Order: sequence, then structure tokens, then C-alpha cells
Amino acid sequence: MSFKALGLSKSLLDALNKHEYESPFPIQEQAIPAILEGKDVQGIAKTGSGKTAGFVLPILELFQRKPRDRKLHLKVLILSPTRELAQQISGVISSFSEELANSVKNLAVYGGVKLNQQMVQLKDTEILVATPGRLLDLVSTQSVNLAKIELLVLDEADKMLDLGFKEEVANIIKLLPKKRQNILFSATLDTKILDLKHLALQDPVTIEITEDEDPIELIKQSAYMTKPERKGPLLRYLIHEKEIKKAIVFCSSIRTADNVTTKLNKNGITARAIHSKKTQGARTQALEDFKLSRIQILVATDLASRGIDIHFLPCVINYELPRSPKDYIHRIGRTGRAGAMGEAFSLVTDEEEHHFYIIQKKMGKRVQKINADEFDLGNI
Ligand code: AMP
Repeated sequence: MSFKALGLSKSLLDALNKHEYESPFPIQEQAIPAILEGKDVQGIAKTGSGKTAGFVLPILELFQRKPRDRKLHLKVLILSPTRELAQQISGVISSFSEELANSVKNLAVYGGVKLNQQMVQLKDTEILVATPGRLLDLVSTQSVNLAKIELLVLDEADKMLDLGFKEEVANIIKLLPKKRQNILFSATLDTKILDLKHLALQDPVTIEITEDEDPIELIKQSAYMTKPERKGPLLRYLIHEKEIKKAIVFCSSIRTADNVTTKLNKNGITARAIHSKKTQGARTQALEDFKLSRIQILVATDLASRGIDIHFLPCVINYELPRSPKDYIHRIGRTGRAGAMGEAFSLVTDEEEHHFYIIQKKMGKRVQKINADEFDLGNI
């Protein structure tokens, strides 16, 4: 199947060509025609499936079909659970939109940035990507009017609920016109999503992408059994020995993330930390520098483990294990994306071993264990 067969117009097809998107991913094959037909859609798809383009492309196509001298007001609202995902979606919209005959202004709004600045930028915006809390702030200062929204997207709806945004999302939906198109994407469609589904969607088309190959199978996992005091040197040893050029190192606490970052930098490995105590500006900059390979290691708490699409990330290291097995899978899922092989290393102490056993059981896969006590970490 080609993008042309899905009903996209020439300028979008040219933009896709420029982005080297040759043919649609399965989620796009199904979502694009349904959205263009004006149907409500619920998609069960994970990050990495191509879901962003699955809703961004038909939305931009709908704009191509509108007159150029249309009234400029807010027509599309995309809700995202995190600031990083909001920026990412907005980036995808901008990168396609700037190539189009009928361009569309989009803006991402999220907390941690001055409200005034965003209020000014809202002028002439037709597509707004927002985190729920910040959107309600903008509504309460009457900077945003949601009365003419024609299309609502709830992206990563499950994550939105996990982060406790249910009430905010419900309040936002109450402010929208009753007649509108709705799209909901979620990694799972378990019972907790049902409320939100009933609240937002009407008679939706369901799209579920079953992956041919479990992405976990594409990730080579190893666990290095070690003592707590040897974790720092072992991390540096692995970075040197395995010649790791780019990796995310996950920590469970902000304090550890900061300590690990300091130690890496002291030892000549460029690293930056990304966690909730960092300002939005610092988080965006760190992610950008990492994507552009200006720094070698991004040290992150679980904040960064979902929704962030970093191209060609070959390696993820768990300096500490996450509490939930689900988070372990999200963390290692940063690598081995879109069919590429990835590697995931975990540094595991005796105390963490039982927990690691539970993670493996939940994941349904055994991880190779390596005893790192014998490694000579002397000069690292
Ligand atoms: P997403 O699941 O939306 O985060 O997308 C995952 C990755 O797939 C992103 O890097 C996209 O740029 C890329 N992608 C999405 N659709 C296509 C396509 N049809 N062809 C090639 N790459 C794509």
C-alpha cells in the first residue's frame, strides 16, 4: 500500500518523500483513511509504531482541503501526558507542515514555561498540543478558547490516567463542542481506559496493531551482578569496554541520577541528567544535545522512559532497576525500535536480584546473568 492510495494530496506526498517515509506503517494504513472519513478512532498502539504520523498526516490533509483564506482559530486539540511528548508531536507537525501548500500553525503548551510567553504565541494557532494542566491554566486566564474545536486527539491516554490527569481531561472535554471528531491512542485498552473512552469517543473504529515480532526479541539483554559500591566503576567499564557511543542510563532517584552524571563527567564521559527537578529549558536542551550526539550519555529517571523517540539508540543501561516490571519494558523499549537491534544492560545487586527475577517473570523472558565481581575495575 502507498501513501497515495490512502488519499493524501500531492504536497503531503512530497513532504513524506522528503522525510523518506516510503510506505505507511500498519497503524497508518488503518488510521489515515478512517480519520479522513471523519470517524472517531481508538488505536491501540505503542510508541514506535508510527502512531504520531498516523494522526498528524490525516489532520494536515484535512487542512489541505480547507480554503486558504479560512478563519484562523483553534480547530484541533491534541492532549499529551508529558511535556516531552507534546514537544515531539508538535515537532512532527511542524516538520510536515512547513512543506505544505496550505501551512498550519501549531503550538505546544506545557507547564514549566512562563504562561505569558505561550499566551502571545497562541495567536493564529490552529493546532494546539497541550498537557492537560497547562491547558486548563490557559483556559482559566481566557487565553484559549476551546469552543470551536473540531477534532480532539488523546495521545497515550493510558499514561495520561497513570499520571492522574483523569479529572483534568474530563474537565477539558466538557469545554469542547459536542459535535467533533475524536481520536484516542493508548498502549493498552484495559478497563481503566473505558471511562475515558465513553467520555470522549462516539461509535469509534478500533485499530489494534499486533506486532509480528515482539520488540523485546530485538533487544539483547544482559544483567551484570555486582556490589552497590562497584556500580559506578562498572558503568564506566561497560561504556569503555563495549565502546558505547550513545546510551540512556536509567536511575530510580533524582539524587542518584545527579551523582552518576557528575561521576561520568569527572571521568571524561560527557553526560547530562534529565529528571523532574530540572527546568523545562534544561530538559529540552539535554534531549536535543543527546539527539545530536553532543553528549554521550543521558542519565534519566523514569520520566524519560516513555514517549520519547530517539533515533538510533543502540543501548540502554539500568543503573538501578525500576520498581515496576512495566517500567523496565518501557525503559529497554527505547532501544530496538522500528526493527533495529538494541542492547540493554542492567546492573543488579544481591538485594535487587529477587526483584529482577520478578521482572523477568512478568516479561516472560530470561536474561543472561554475568558475574561482574571478577572484572578488574581498578583504573576506571
Ligand atoms: P512514533 O511511534 O510515532 O513515535 O514513530 C516512531 C518512528 O517511526 C519515528 O521516528 C517516525 O519518524 C518513524 N516513522 C513513522 N512512520 C514512518 C513511515 N511510514 N516510514 C518511515 N518511518 C516512519
